[in-house]
Amino acid sequence: MLKLKVKNQRACIGCKLCVLASSRIAKNTISLNDGFISVYQGKEGFIIEIDQAQKTAYEEIIRLCPRNCFKLEE
Ligand code: SF4
Repeated sequence: MLKLKVKNQRACIGCKLCVLASSRIAKNTISLNDGFISVYQGKEGFIIEIDQAQKTAYEEIIRLCPRNCFKLEE
């Protein structure tokens, strides 16, 4: 089964578009807390976390990231 994975974490600029989109997809809300993606500041750039317990194979997330940080993978 295909899942959303992080392809290029270093490229992330922390815009959180993916976080908001995952909230809309999962809960029909626009929230930084309700989705299946979290993005936060780490010591050396942004950290992207995907809750793989949820269905995440959304092409939309890949298309909307301005830095091409995601991919779909088995
Ligand atoms: S949309 Fe892309 S650049 Fe923006 S926070 Fe998400 S992973 Fe980072």
